Amino acid sequence: MSGQERSEIMGKLSTLLQSRQDELASTITNEMGAPLAFSYMGQVFAATMVLDYFVDLASKFQFEELRDGVMGPAVVRKEPVGVAVGIVPWNVPLYISMLKLGPALASGSSIILKPSPEAPHSSFLLADAIAEAGVPEGVVSILPGGRELGAYMVSHPGVDKVSFTGSTAAGRKVAAVCGEQLKRVTLELGGKSAAILLDDVNIDEALPNLMMGAMLNNGQACVAQTRILVPASRSAELTEAIVEAVKAMPVGDPAEMDTQIGPLIADRQRTRVLDYIEAGKSQGATLATGGGRPDIDSGYFVEPTVFTGVDNTMKIAQEEIFGPVLSVIEYSDENDAVAIANNSDYGLSGTVFSASVDRGLDVARQVRTGTYTVNGFMLEPAAPFGGFKQSGIGRELGPEGLNAFLETKSISLPGGYEPTLRQGG
Ligand code: NAD
Repeated sequence: MSGQERSEIMGKLSTLLQSRQDELASTITNEMGAPLAFSYMGQVFAATMVLDYFVDLASKFQFEELRDGVMGPAVVRKEPVGVAVGIVPWNVPLYISMLKLGPALASGSSIILKPSPEAPHSSFLLADAIAEAGVPEGVVSILPGGRELGAYMVSHPGVDKVSFTGSTAAGRKVAAVCGEQLKRVTLELGGKSAAILLDDVNIDEALPNLMMGAMLNNGQACVAQTRILVPASRSAELTEAIVEAVKAMPVGDPAEMDTQIGPLIADRQRTRVLDYIEAGKSQGATLATGGGRPDIDSGYFVEPTVFTGVDNTMKIAQEEIFGPVLSVIEYSDENDAVAIANNSDYGLSGTVFSASVDRGLDVARQVRTGTYTVNGFMLEPAAPFGGFKQSGIGRELGPEGLNAFLETKSISLPGGYEPTLRQGG
């Protein structure tokens, strides 16, 4: 098929998914506990927005171009990578599936998606929509299962490309197998991102975006802004505003539209988060709010928690907790803020809040992460997403995300020959 033909089918898929947004959002909330408002926006709307970006890109992308070479004309051709495997974690199942499915379909590759066993149900609804949209049989397969299945798929000789999202520990294993077999691989891994409040910040304006970025998906987000850096000159005032905002977050039934903090995915995750809270206390951070389990009968809840007086070398500031736990860290000046933000094994995301966008952009340029927002919290589908350092290898979204599912071929031609270019077929 041409890119245009693929784009039309993908557009039908997007329309079908949009028409099922209520069912998709409630399915995801029911299976993994994301607050319903986030499921609508971050799980379903964001997923179709990503798909729509690739619908557009598939129809416009130059799959072949003619180069006027040194020795004669050459066609530079982008071909589908082949059979791809997309491995998806439980925290944002539909959105992360789309980061892989969108570019795979746009490229003309086939893909086997592996949702995680904790959150497979939205992928069955996705499968129905894929069939109804007219995606040819065999182009997309969906195979939910655990890490043994994932490892089997990664090592299978029939697979050409692996697109993995998950923990850094698992990512390392996937990369080792792909390295051995010289498979193409993209890794989207963990994070420990910093939100920097500059000394001119209007905290009332910043708070809604700051809290959204910090506590997204009950804190179970790779891009969560879990270190909040405050200037020493305004530390008391800003810290109080953060603590009050967290105290005010409604905790409870994720199916209620005004709930901001729902339960964690599993008992083991709650234990992990509570262990980190103990580590924060024992290393000398001050527990300003939260720290325990709320009085709610069912669900693996942890109270939204803020530690203040955190030193960036503490465990709670260095390791990914994956729960509603924030560390407020004081800095002396802008250079110190950048140094603290950069003192991390990870480099996935980051934000800065300032009355001056110029100052914010200047800070953004200095922080070693793959994705950054000035005065907000965004993931832009047209711009590449991915991590520096231990947060991953390669990029999703944007034309870079499509390129990750393409191989490049150069065809040199006799001088004077003028080929008819094909777009994606
Ligand atoms: P996980 O690494 O345990 O599992 C992720 C997926 O990989 C699951 O589908 C799992 O079955 C599979 N898997 C595990 N080991 C495997 C192996 N050896 N070979 C092949 N597949 C394997 O992670 P999780 O607990 O499901 O998700 C949370 C982690 O995901 C966090 O670290 C988080 O930061 C990360 N994450 C990253 C991004 C990103 O885009 N950078 C997005 C969301 C989540």
